[in-house]
Amino acid sequence: MPDRIFNFSAGPAVLPEPVLEKAREAIWNVAGSGIGIMEHSHRGKIFDRIIGEAEQDCRDLAGIPDNYHVLFLQGGASLQFSMVPMNLLPAERTADYLVTGVWSQKAVKEAKILGAKVHIAATGEAGHFSRIPRPGEIHYSADPAFVHLTTNNTIYGTQWRAEPAVPAGAPLVADTSSDMYSRPIDVSKYGIIYAGAQKNLGPSGVVLVIIRDDLVEAGPKTLPTMLQYRTHTGEKSLYNTPPTFGIYVMGEVFKWIRAQGGLAAMAEHNESKAALIYDYLDQSDFFRGTVQPDSRSQMNVCFRAPTEELDTKFIAEATRRGLDGLKGHRSAGGMRASIYNACPREAVESLVSFLEEFEGANRAAAARA
Ligand SMILES: *Cc1c(COP(=O)(O)O)cnc(C)c1O
Repeated sequence: MPDRIFNFSAGPAVLPEPVLEKAREAIWNVAGSGIGIMEHSHRGKIFDRIIGEAEQDCRDLAGIPDNYHVLFLQGGASLQFSMVPMNLLPAERTADYLVTGVWSQKAVKEAKILGAKVHIAATGEAGHFSRIPRPGEIHYSADPAFVHLTTNNTIYGTQWRAEPAVPAGAPLVADTSSDMYSRPIDVSKYGIIYAGAQKNLGPSGVVLVIIRDDLVEAGPKTLPTMLQYRTHTGEKSLYNTPPTFGIYVMGEVFKWIRAQGGLAAMAEHNESKAALIYDYLDQSDFFRGTVQPDSRSQMNVCFRAPTEELDTKFIAEATRRGLDGLKGHRSAGGMRASIYNACPREAVESLVSFLEEFEGANRAAAARA
């Protein structure tokens, strides 16, 4: 489509074009009902089918076991930073956090605001979060109520290759906001998985929560109703008005992922896109990746030119070329290409050609600097 450009934004981020086209029609008239998706009651038959299919497709994609609930909530991933310790952490116990970047730090901050006992089992802060902790660097507390990790670090561009080992009986809680359904995930290894939709799954305003049923009941009944997981599992995400449009789009994204061949196909597509950029960075003596190779994210590729002036110039020229959203997060600097599921291979190819061209045109200037 000539009126759309390549969007490397970290979030809200690119969505699959077939989904956008379908949503455009559904805004006007969904499922032949004569009413747009945003205008339907969340208690009616049409929306009932939409949320039911979204849940079923979500379950089918990852083979989510029956003892897990699938919820569509609000408040973003950020509210989960509070809801998790509120529901899972009795006052006398400790929760362990694996700190791999800004988002894990924010999760820790919220737990501390609640007065929770927090143990930092590992942190990459000293190394500017340029890699994921190695097994020998993780030191858990004696009996953590849960272990929290961020599977993909959107800002620094690192990603866990596999789940870390956790103490027996401690549920693993994962913020998967920026890599949810970008690769297969074994849900049975987790107690809670949560993800704000706006990176890989849909528009902002809806957060996907997958929670094991025994953990739902663990939460205190003294919490505000909206902050108890049992409220939402009991009403199948319909306790109050849910973000109906966001759930519709997420459902269409699940169908699109299925049509692409499911999570294994998504992983293959994402790995090959990421490799195009990393391979280029590895052979370049101009640009450099900022993350250690064993920790590289398949979703957010962070890199730098030889100087900050050249970073700025690169971002400006890329934008003029229709390669948008490449500026790194303010706490990391440099460049970041976010190449989520819906980012087409052509976008990445176009970026790599531009890297090559920019390097050629600016190598001499960098050598003089
Ligand atoms: C974007 C992001 C968040 C914040 O999500 P909100 O939905 O804005 O609250 C949290 N964690 C990670 C890993 C993210 O990438």
